[in-house]
Amino acid sequence: MTFKIGSHVGMGAKDYYLGSVKEALSYEANALMLYTGAPQNSVRTPLEKLKIEEAKQLLKEHDIPLENVIIHAPYLINLANTVNPDTFENSKKMLGVEIERSKAFGAKYLVLHPGSHLKMGSEAGIQKIIEGLNEVLAEHQDMIVALETMAGKGAEVGWRFEEIAEIIAGCKYPEWLGVCFDTCHTHDAGYDLADFDNVLKEFDRVIGLDRLNVIHLNDSMNERGARKDRHANLGYGKIGFDTLYNIAHHPSLENVVKILETPYVNGTAPYKYEIASLRSGKWDEHLMEIKG
Ligand code: FE
Ligand code: FE
Ligand code: ZN
Repeated sequence: MTFKIGSHVGMGAKDYYLGSVKEALSYEANALMLYTGAPQNSVRTPLEKLKIEEAKQLLKEHDIPLENVIIHAPYLINLANTVNPDTFENSKKMLGVEIERSKAFGAKYLVLHPGSHLKMGSEAGIQKIIEGLNEVLAEHQDMIVALETMAGKGAEVGWRFEEIAEIIAGCKYPEWLGVCFDTCHTHDAGYDLADFDNVLKEFDRVIGLDRLNVIHLNDSMNERGARKDRHANLGYGKIGFDTLYNIAHHPSLENVVKILETPYVNGTAPYKYEIASLRSGKWDEHLMEIKG
């Protein structure tokens, strides 16, 4: 089984999706994650312009299966918003659009932040997310929406496995739901990743391991349980390289795509070095060089 590793990549003019694939290849990745437009707004370049066929052809030439392409939904989507009906309506609309765009990209998984309950309480947020997913998934299917485990910053919903499980259990279309496990977020939420077998056991008991579709592999700047969400380069945070390496190569997760969302270092993408260190098990002396 090949180790499925990549990072988030850009999708800018004028090469768009083709450029995203080229960027991933420059990191020697065999997986990638991208937004189909700016993450913080809903302006979307029409599909015809995105060089989708060329991108798929290039992936094929490099034996990279389309299921290794992960799409991340814009953060603007908030299905947990019980306060502003317009935001809720727009969020549903945007999610529908993203599902259709993700299909055109050939992706299998669309990562979504469950939402923010805006001080209305997590239970209200969870019920609103269920309502939103039920409406969107009734019309837009054939894409697995992978709910991301969150850090528990502010009013974020989905930082405890139980909250994710409740959303899935309440949804009429559980066959179209999965989970994206973010290591920085789960650490910040309080899970002890140094004992990863135990965390996975808990995940399996509460959600079910078969739902784990994507891993976001990030170190964290903060102590476990800090509920902050600040990503660090592998081995430069409070999780540590050995623990992250162990997660990346965990035998139960061989089939799961791992995506780095670590910060740029002195204006340079660290992904080529981080991917190399995850392959070799030798921690990034190159990254030290760009760190200066
Ligand atoms: Fe995310
Ligand atoms: Fe993430
Ligand atoms: Zn994060």
